Amino acid sequence: MAKRIVILGGGTGGTLTANRLRRLYDEDEATITVVDQDGDHVYQPGLLFVPFGLAHADDIVRPRGRQLHRGISYVQSAIERVDVEADRVHLVDGTVLGYDALVVATGTRLVPEETEGLLGAGWMERVFTFYDLEGAAALGARLATFEGGRLVVNVVDLPIKCPVAPLEFCFLADWYFHERGIRDQVQITYVTPLDGAFTKPTAAAVLGGMLEDRGIELVTEFNTGEVDGEATPERGGRLVSYDEREVPFDLAVVVPVHSGAAYVAESPGLGDDLDFVITDERTLQAAVKPNVFAIGDAASLPISKAGSVTHFEGEVLVENVVRFLHDEPLDASYDGHANCFIETGFHKAMLIDFNYEQEPVPGHFPTSIGMPLLKESRLNHLGKLMFQWFYWHSLLPGRDIPGIGADMPTSGKHLSEAVPSGPVDD
Ligand SMILES: Cc1cc2nc3c(=O)[nH]c(=O)nc-3n(C[C@H](O)[C@H](O)[C@H](O)COP(=O)(O)OP(=O)(O)OC[C@H]3O[C@@H](n4cnc5c(N)ncnc54)[C@H](O)[C@@H]3O)c2cc1C
Repeated sequence: MAKRIVILGGGTGGTLTANRLRRLYDEDEATITVVDQDGDHVYQPGLLFVPFGLAHADDIVRPRGRQLHRGISYVQSAIERVDVEADRVHLVDGTVLGYDALVVATGTRLVPEETEGLLGAGWMERVFTFYDLEGAAALGARLATFEGGRLVVNVVDLPIKCPVAPLEFCFLADWYFHERGIRDQVQITYVTPLDGAFTKPTAAAVLGGMLEDRGIELVTEFNTGEVDGEATPERGGRLVSYDEREVPFDLAVVVPVHSGAAYVAESPGLGDDLDFVITDERTLQAAVKPNVFAIGDAASLPISKAGSVTHFEGEVLVENVVRFLHDEPLDASYDGHANCFIETGFHKAMLIDFNYEQEPVPGHFPTSIGMPLLKESRLNHLGKLMFQWFYWHSLLPGRDIPGIGADMPTSGKHLSEAVPSGPVDD
């Protein structure tokens, strides 16, 4: 009898997992069903460019079902809960799907309502986010008419998707206002709960220096308790921290708190306090039951929530779904490999490459004659732009990218140039 594989979420992880599995199994060997709540697949790295007029919403959205290979069933409905005991998924439209193997790929959920005032006065007038399509487009319209004042970019709490994206926003804002000839009239401030510009010490030192060089103020260890968008003529709006510090603004770009999908809380044993799926960091098998796996942002792993991570995880996860269905021991080889282009403005970008044990260091990727690491270059900027093509044509269809595999390469890296530090976290 054909094995039943159900994949929850048809974003980056769900789509590449389904396509890879479809290639490995004939239709009479396994049925593959993907469930998602909506029909629009958004290329999320493109959201960064929308506010600056460098990408349009139409350029970064494609029909979700069309990204799945023939022979994959696509069900459009929200998920209500997973009955892990009975190996069944209950959908909001009343459908019940039984499975032999389940892959959770439902990513993160933005929860702006968790922060006092964020959705209150000034929301979408002087307080925005670029972390969804609607917000990115609305922010683009606001930026186009912004003639000067205090722009504040704030990460409320971690974890967030693509932790470098808010920094990239600052760098692009610096470039954008230069282009418009009003940079000297805009004060840019980056406000973070971290004790530096980024979590990893070597990258934090480099990125912190870049903020300073561009005249962008860095406010650290700021745990936002309230976003007060009720502007007064004297002070504009303000961010207020739990320890009662204040950062005033005329325009705030806020990355809201992230959690896992809400149905995870209705599925006993599946998730942690933030509704992320408790997952083995090497095999990607969920703790709750051997026939459940998790990929991408939905998993509670000590590594960045990023499309590149999801891609690298996919190789090991698909191998392990197959091994599980064949009663073979799992492959415990996922090393936490993450790889991020950081757009730095003025047609340049940086690249960082790291894993659970190794923080980002200088050198080249993937070998000593590859792209420069932790260094701005035009080549990296082209790499960032090219990534969109790879996303639709290589990563989602589940093809391997030549020379770039799940294991983090070390041959081009200057490992001795890491800043000495404690254990590396996300
Ligand atoms: C602004 C921004 C910039 C980024 N830049 C980069 C970058 O440069 N490089 C990089 O590698 N990554 C980047 N990322 C991160 C990257 O997009 C994500 O890490 C990646 O998409 C994760 O894939 P995923 O499959 O885990 O989640 P997603 O692709 O988000 O897919 C999750 C899917 O689950 C569905 N879903 C959720 N809940 C339910 C439910 N209850 N019922 C049914 N369906 C549900 C959703 O509709 C969605 O389609 C960026 C993200 C953002 C927001």
